[in-house]
Amino acid sequence: MAGKPRSGCEALRVVARCRPMSRREEAAGYERVLELDVKLGQVSIRNPRAAPGELPKTFTFDAVYDASSKQADLYDETVRPLIDSVLQGFNGTVFAYGQTGTGKTYTMQGAWAEPEKRGIIPSAFEHIFTHISRSQNQQYLVRASYLEIYQEEIRDLLAKDQSKKLELKENPETGVYIKDLSSFVTKNVKEIEHVMNLGSQTRSVGSTNMNEHSSRSHAIFLITIECSETGPDGEEHIRVGKLNLVDLAGSERQNKMGAHGERPKEASKINLSLSALGNVISALVDGRSTHIPYRDSKLTRLLQDSLGGNAKTIMVATLGPASHSYDESLSTLRFANRAKNIKNKPRVNEDPKDTLLREFQEEIVRLKAQLEKRGMLGKKRRRSSRRKKAMDGEGTVDNEGEDENEDGLEKNMENYLKEQKERLEEEKAAIQDDHSLVSEEKQKLLQEKEKMIEHLRREQEATELLAIKYKAMESKLLIGGRTIVDHTNEQQKMLELRRQEIAEQKRREREMQQEMLLRDEETMELRETFTSLQQEVEIKTKKLKKLYAKLQAVKAEIQDQHDEYIRVRQDLEEAQNEQTRELKLKYLIIENFIPPEEKNKIMNRLYFDSDEDQWKFQPLVPTGGNSSQMKRRPTSAVGYKRPISQYARVAMARRSHPRFR
Ligand code: ADP
Ligand code: MG
Repeated sequence: MAGKPRSGCEALRVVARCRPMSRREEAAGYERVLELDVKLGQVSIRNPRAAPGELPKTFTFDAVYDASSKQADLYDETVRPLIDSVLQGFNGTVFAYGQTGTGKTYTMQGAWAEPEKRGIIPSAFEHIFTHISRSQNQQYLVRASYLEIYQEEIRDLLAKDQSKKLELKENPETGVYIKDLSSFVTKNVKEIEHVMNLGSQTRSVGSTNMNEHSSRSHAIFLITIECSETGPDGEEHIRVGKLNLVDLAGSERQNKMGAHGERPKEASKINLSLSALGNVISALVDGRSTHIPYRDSKLTRLLQDSLGGNAKTIMVATLGPASHSYDESLSTLRFANRAKNIKNKPRVNEDPKDTLLREFQEEIVRLKAQLEKRGMLGKKRRRSSRRKKAMDGEGTVDNEGEDENEDGLEKNMENYLKEQKERLEEEKAAIQDDHSLVSEEKQKLLQEKEKMIEHLRREQEATELLAIKYKAMESKLLIGGRTIVDHTNEQQKMLELRRQEIAEQKRREREMQQEMLLRDEETMELRETFTSLQQEVEIKTKKLKKLYAKLQAVKAEIQDQHDEYIRVRQDLEEAQNEQTRELKLKYLIIENFIPPEEKNKIMNRLYFDSDEDQWKFQPLVPTGGNSSQMKRRPTSAVGYKRPISQYARVAMARRSHPRFR
């Protein structure tokens, strides 16, 4: 929008949300260890096993939401501005991070049936399509994808063939993307909800225990919004905003040895993406790191832009209030606290190559030209001039008007074909009646006319198909006030606006309070003037006590971090031992059961594909025109037709890998 900066540096927004005590927790009599200060945006956590005198630990976030918070509070205050940015062409990401059972899915999805319990995803649907319906002079194309990462494999939840594993690819211009991921163009809330439900069903079908499955996999709902608008330069510009809505796997420590019966290799993959996420965040905020390990997992590669790149990102850290989740809650708070320091560089994605919107526009123009050539769009021209008027703000096109025009298109076509057919029939009759013709000649002419009628019929079918396609494509491009009916009345719109204002105000108040608190500490010294020595001693003693408490807190924090470090190291050592054992076994098998020359052959053909993080077999290289290998290979063999340069690259990669040096 005018006046707003189109790019800049901004921190990841991090908010914390605590769910209510569950009935089970209440019945078991667990104490509450979390306190939230909503006004100040702070969470305090008290160690239930605290030594006497140990103070609670306090964390400050952009906002905190307590058990009484409503879904709409979180949306209006925190998420709405992000979605507005996506509608303007920024990339946006919302992560829900936290232990299983703390409300990640509740926050992202919520309970669909109850309007006030709907989460971020359904609210975003409403928001997006309402915005479009109220837009002017803009054309939108919205599409959605839904995927899941489980054990480092990407599953397209909207694909027909669920056995297919998808691959990540990189494009130097647009970054990392998933090859062959399905996406559906959606025209309204109902359609995008349908896509969502379809994916959710697929997700649950594949798993025997949905709770367990969802706690160990990451679900990403992806919405791409393309918007075209005529700029001040008179040219048409397209902006593309991509929105990732991410329900992460449970953050609790997974048992490395595979508590659920996986083999070690599988167990180690379960939380790979999540620990890679932690490492990426640590490296980003470290300041000294030159290498950010995005490539260590599918999740971090896919969401590279959301972490330190071209995106606006929100992390919702979800927490349980009860004492039994103290360790996990503290770890979530620390994780979120670190993420606060990530700086992103969001910018509007303007006029990228290969937008679907442009493709659609071009296809529509092509279809329209074809229909016009067939004389089918006589009335159509009038219609578009009318719409142009509407877009200029001189009037509105109502739905009935449109129906009339759509009908007009068909009538027009019908009339034309009817006329043509009648003319041919007449000509046929004339030939029949023409007694000057010899019967043979007559027969020939009649056959010709029959053929022409048949041709006309086929032509008619083709035109009908063309018209159907044209209409379908055109209906997918959304234009404000026309394609979607906005049912909200003025009063409701005012109410919405008011809610947004209140949310904005709350946010500003909190920011001011946080700022004041910081300044207070800094300037306390400056403001103090002492009237007597006695008073000076008193005040300084008080200050000393405060600083001493702070020192203790920092010391405790260091101790905690140290313990955590030792735990992680032990885990890693365990994993390493496990892998060494596995490796020894493989060596044993290779050395004893595979003939050395076979082994060498295999080794020479292997290369490491870092894109897919896999060892792969190099295709058999056609070494020369009369190579016996080449003669044996059928021409349809995979890889045979690839250009030689590609083989050369593969061979180079193999040679440069340390394993083969
Ligand atoms: P997760 O996805 O993190 O494993 P869920 O979203 O499934 O957790 O939440 C676990 C349970 O807690 C669900 O029954 C959910 O309805 C409830 N719950 C979570 N957050 C809230 C909240 N803010 N208010 C009310 N109930 C909640
Ligand atoms: Mg969940």
